[in-house]
Amino acid sequence: MTDLAHPADPLDAVARLEALRAAIARRARDCGRAPEAVRLVAVSKTFSADEVWPTIAIGGQTVFGENRVQEAIPKWRDLRARAAELGTTIELHLIGPLQSNKAREAVEHFDVIETVDREKIASALAHEIQRLGKHPRLLVEVNTGAEPQKAGILPEEADAFLALCRDTYGLTIDGLMAIPPVGEQASPHFALLGVIAKRNGLNELSMGMSADWPLAVQLGATAVRVGSAIFGGRAPRQTPV
Ligand SMILES: *Cc1c(COP(=O)(O)O)cnc(C)c1O
Repeated sequence: MTDLAHPADPLDAVARLEALRAAIARRARDCGRAPEAVRLVAVSKTFSADEVWPTIAIGGQTVFGENRVQEAIPKWRDLRARAAELGTTIELHLIGPLQSNKAREAVEHFDVIETVDREKIASALAHEIQRLGKHPRLLVEVNTGAEPQKAGILPEEADAFLALCRDTYGLTIDGLMAIPPVGEQASPHFALLGVIAKRNGLNELSMGMSADWPLAVQLGATAVRVGSAIFGGRAPRQTPV
């Protein structure tokens, strides 16, 4: 059996990245959108710094997503330092569930936090942003499928939560993020996210992964989060994320 977590040749990741970028641009044009209106967040979770490095050094990728704060910190301390030697600045997105006791580290280490989803997190982030004087861009995660095990604010609570973030905690929210339920048609979920964003005057829509990014681009994604289509398969997790 091949080890899915470790693709044989990291240069493959660069080739897949370049092909993906071209495909995203093509898809955007086909949907009547500007190619530069869709950003690619390369999801590097579970892959080591050495596995990710060629996509930066050779592939020129600068925007990455990680879903665990503790995994990301040492890895990206290393990768940011290496990138800095090339004059490259990395933009790191937190795309996994955030616990309030990790809010400080999240604000310190991430440029974009995509998973603001409850008052406790909004409050903790506001506190740390104030304390550290660092302002990561923020997205609210919406649990469009109302799945009990999944993070994200429920769709019917999204408007009130966005108002709470703004009015009570002084947070600027740039947009919304969603992960549609596994095994369901993604399009109604992407469409719902777009509707909630529009009625709240939000421009950023982070939606679409390896399996469904073309649909997300069609339905207005401004960022797609793609991991396995670039880096290869990941070993199954022991614990749910
Ligand atoms: C892992 C992950 C992705 C990327 O998934 P792939 O199917 O590997 O492209 C995107 N978004 C989130 C929130 C993730 O956890």
